[in-house]
Amino acid sequence: MICYLGLGSNLGDRESSLCRAVTCLSDNGVECVKASSVYESEPFGYSDQPAFLNAVIEARTRLSAQELLTIVKEIERLMGRVPGPRWGPRPIDIDILLYDELTIATEELTVPHPGMRQRPFVLLPLHEIAPGVNIGKGMSVERALESLDIDKGIKKYAPWRCEDVR
Ligand code: AMP
Repeated sequence: MICYLGLGSNLGDRESSLCRAVTCLSDNGVECVKASSVYESEPFGYSDQPAFLNAVIEARTRLSAQELLTIVKEIERLMGRVPGPRWGPRPIDIDILLYDELTIATEELTVPHPGMRQRPFVLLPLHEIAPGVNIGKGMSVERALESLDIDKGIKKYAPWRCEDVR
C-alpha cells in the first residue's frame, strides 16, 4: 500500500526529530520512498509556542491503516510526546494523510485526514512530491492549494537531509 504521512515538530532539535520519525517508521515496516522539503510554519491553533517544521513523506507498507495508526502513536510516544493541548507543542506529530485511496471513518481514524484541505503546511509539501494526488471527494491537491492563501505563515526551510529514503 502507498500512504502519505504528514510530519511536524516544534520542540527540541526539530529537524532531527523528523529524521528520527522516518527511521522509526522504516524500522516498523513503513518504508519512506519520497520526502518533501522541510517547511517552517507558524503554530496552528494555539499560537503561544515555537514554530513548526513540517514535511510530507510517501511511504510503502503492508500494514493496514489501523496497524499504521498504532505504529504512528507508538513512535510519537517513544519520541517523547506527552498528552497536552490539542494543538500544543510536541517533539513529533505524525498524521496519516492518505492511505491507498481509501476512505476510512472510524472512531480512531479518519482518512483522508480531515484537516489537510485547510493546511498549507500539509498541502505545499504534499504537492511537491505528489502533485496529481487526489485528497478525497475528487479534489486534487492542486485545486485545494488554489483555494488557500498559501504564502501565509509558511516558508521553505531546508531540503530533505535525512537518510532512510529508498
Ligand atoms: P493528533 O493530536 O494529531 O496526534 O491526533 C490525535 C488523534 O487523532 C489520534 O489519537 C488518532 O486516533 C486520531 N486520528 C484520527 N484520524 C487520524 C489520522 N488520519 N492520522 C492520525 N491520527 C488520526
